Amino acid sequence: MDHSMELERVRVTLSKIGTRPIYAYGQNFLLDRSISRNIASEVPDRFIDNIFEIGPGLGILTKALLARGAKVRAIEKDGILASNLHKIIGPPLNERLEMIRGDAMNIIPGRIKDGNEDVFIVSNLPFNISSRLIGGILDQIIIGGSYPNHFKGGVIMFQEEFANRIISDPGSKTYGRISVMFRSKMDFHEVIKVPRNSFFPIPKVNASVIAFKPKTEFNVIPQDNDIFSKLVHDVFLNRRKKLKNTVNPRSIGIDLGMEDIKWILDDMEITDLRPENLSPDTFITLSNRLFDLA
Ligand code: SAM
Repeated sequence: MDHSMELERVRVTLSKIGTRPIYAYGQNFLLDRSISRNIASEVPDRFIDNIFEIGPGLGILTKALLARGAKVRAIEKDGILASNLHKIIGPPLNERLEMIRGDAMNIIPGRIKDGNEDVFIVSNLPFNISSRLIGGILDQIIIGGSYPNHFKGGVIMFQEEFANRIISDPGSKTYGRISVMFRSKMDFHEVIKVPRNSFFPIPKVNASVIAFKPKTEFNVIPQDNDIFSKLVHDVFLNRRKKLKNTVNPRSIGIDLGMEDIKWILDDMEITDLRPENLSPDTFITLSNRLFDLA
């Protein structure tokens, strides 16, 4: 696809406001408006007034959201971009835009944990905060918990490799701790793959957009979310080892002996499997068996 017109527009805007793309801020500006419209269309109507956009940059995504009638709170770390976005977008669209200058990682977790309104995240995410953001969101979601959870979902563009890790299937090379936690807590789908030449400057890798929201229906629920998450964390430290050699009651913090562990693993017929072969539901069931016996 030819992005030359949008590329020219981005170059001119950057030069007008007196800046250049900053690598440390993960600034790769999207050039394809059909992708930004596609992302905006994935936001469910009921969360249209609850959008937090991380890193609006020059506003390609922000504009698509505002054009859909959304109210957008945009958090931008780069002071120059933050102070120019209202002008770049212009009236009347910018009337529903609230700019927040700052680091999203200092703002979003608090809004999810202690805020008093729903949070729906939309972003072409700077690559260096993907893991912290998703890890932080997952940590705050208790499977089956009956507490107010302000995180309602997200439509987020990640580097393709990170996207593949979070949505990985059991048995695949990229299946790991974050895949188990993401799959056990979220419903999701891949919206679109985005080739790397859709950005300026062109990054080293392609991107992928994932839409996700906390699950509401479960096959199994952990009796103790802490044991579940410690178990998953622990066994993936040695992903190539068989479970009989890697489930360690002491580091999970349960009062069981190795014979008890062996008995449970044998009974579940998973003794000789490796962590990468266990589905999220099997991990939950295993954590429940450990909890029951401890
Ligand atoms: N949304 C724009 C687009 O799609 O063209 C820009 C996306 S660019 C990949 C990432 C944006 O996030 C940049 O504008 C960058 O300055 C901003 N950013 C980087 N780290 C951030 C952080 N910790 N909090 C908020 N914004 C951040």
